Amino acid sequence: MRPRPLTEQAQQAVGRVLKPGERAVDATVGNGHDTLFLARQVAPGGRVIGFDLQPQALATAQARLAAAGLRHIVELQLCGHQQMGDRVPSDWPGHVAAVMFNLGYLPGGDKRRVTRAEHTLPALDQALRLLRIGGLVSLLVYRGHPGAQQEAEAVASWLDGLDTRYRVTGHASPGPLLYLIRRLA
Ligand code: SAH
Repeated sequence: MRPRPLTEQAQQAVGRVLKPGERAVDATVGNGHDTLFLARQVAPGGRVIGFDLQPQALATAQARLAAAGLRHIVELQLCGHQQMGDRVPSDWPGHVAAVMFNLGYLPGGDKRRVTRAEHTLPALDQALRLLRIGGLVSLLVYRGHPGAQQEAEAVASWLDGLDTRYRVTGHASPGPLLYLIRRLA
């Protein structure tokens, strides 16, 4: 049997935590698959904020959300996830159920526009500050493209430095790695 893609495993883990009416963040909107998933989970009444640097990504995501009738649930921000802390409402820190990261490049887009550790690590720090107790950060890390290995190593040492309030579980594959970071207390 073919193993389930890590993108699906990430959504399944987030789906166990994120409930209707809650708040969530998509740190790398890309083509909007995770954004749509998050919007479905929190509807009705919840809220999702999504970040991406590329207008093309947000346009694709916007169309996907509109087609599903969920555009009103999501605020799309054309800016880097390293600005997450400043861009979410002031009452979000400590109250967000899930933050999803899917690193790398935009599938079908410019493969040179990749996420980079210098932005990814500050964004991860900010994501942890948003989480509620029991909340989850999902983090999909790639290793194949130029610069990917460096980012993957930086992420691994960032994970090593987390304190005992967080539990990290890792799911390896020949290619990408999925980390799930749960805020326990
Ligand atoms: N590699 C994944 C998709 C990743 S999409 C897959 O195969 O499915 C990653 C997205 O992150 C891209 O759309 C890219 O524009 C975006 N991105 C890159 N740097 C970013 C940053 N600093 N903040 C937010 N998004 C960023």
